[in-house]
Amino acid sequence: MIYLDANATTPVDPLVIDAMLPFLCEHYANPASSYADGRPVRQAMDLAREQVADLLHAQPEEIIFTSGGTESINAVLASVRALWPESRELVITGTEHAAALESAKRWQRQGGKVVRVPVHANGRVDLDALREAMRPGITALVSIMWANNETGVLAPMREIVEIAHAAGALVHSDAVQAVGKVPVDVKSMHVDFLSLSGHKIHAPKGIGALYVSKRVRFEPFILGGGQEHERRSGTENVPGIAALGAAADLVRQHFEDGTKSRIHAMRDRFEHLVHAAIPNMRIHGCLTHRLHTTSSFCLPEVDAAGMLILLDKAGIACSAGSACHANALHSSHVLEAMGVSARDAACTLRFSFHRFNTKSEAETAASAVIKAAQKVRAERGDESMVVTA
Ligand code: PLP
Repeated sequence: MIYLDANATTPVDPLVIDAMLPFLCEHYANPASSYADGRPVRQAMDLAREQVADLLHAQPEEIIFTSGGTESINAVLASVRALWPESRELVITGTEHAAALESAKRWQRQGGKVVRVPVHANGRVDLDALREAMRPGITALVSIMWANNETGVLAPMREIVEIAHAAGALVHSDAVQAVGKVPVDVKSMHVDFLSLSGHKIHAPKGIGALYVSKRVRFEPFILGGGQEHERRSGTENVPGIAALGAAADLVRQHFEDGTKSRIHAMRDRFEHLVHAAIPNMRIHGCLTHRLHTTSSFCLPEVDAAGMLILLDKAGIACSAGSACHANALHSSHVLEAMGVSARDAACTLRFSFHRFNTKSEAETAASAVIKAAQKVRAERGDESMVVTA
């Protein structure tokens, strides 16, 4: 299989597996243990906290380990709502992940108000609308994703933070798709909260982190034994935490070694080949502010559902533009928020590359897409699609 669905999840890096294995085998003690065996476990957690903090330019005590992006996002919204009940409003965009959208619904159920700021047709947040949405003393939190999981569009985080802070609101960024792909520096960006997930950066599923700036208060979402300095209870997922630390370290190494430009070139080559054969292909999202790993595009009148079946048979793993919930295709709220028609959304595919992909995989995938598109059109009795390669 050629795996081009890294925005869904990434393969665990063998070096990450090496880092976590000792904590599944010999070092299995509970980190809270008073006996000697607990010590290496606690040391591993300290190291991982430093590794994650270093990646974000944060301080170790600002990192809370969680079960992943979803929990981190839920925790931020719940905490802000609980601690600042008089500031009723939450500002989000229509292109957020379900974790934020569903947490926003809870915010509303708890008597708060949610303001949805529109995005432009290229998926970038409308900053004028954001400015207008801010209500000093009333807006508690602005929660906007750093990079979109469907299109890869990057948010103007610096401007977002400036606008929110000028109105006295806190800022959370869901950086689950951004971390590991673009530099994410919480200090220079001045975000107050940030969520990340291990399985998007070649660590296993079920581990993530939440950055909470020392400047802001935080109320725990999960209560119990008071782990994570009373901020997230539950016996720590030590193997996952060690894995996340190692994955964070590898991200930093790969920022230096040309991996980014290699993936970028691969993604561009893939898009170039598909476009050369199917000139009416339309790439979604801002071309200049887009993750170098992500390619989301519409092949007009070529149903994505049929494409997914053919591509699966050809050994290519990718996604439809529509979110897949419990194996059913639902229209994409992200594309809808960008003004893409339901028809075009149903003809959208997403390919997301990672560091283990190769140029030849990108080329094979492009030919498979071209062949599959021809077949889908032929089956519909429509031979008119221009295919030049
Ligand atoms: N936010 C974004 C942008 C995502 O892409 C995802 C996962 O798909 C999440 C949040 C949820 O993260 P997790 O799967 O770790 O709960």
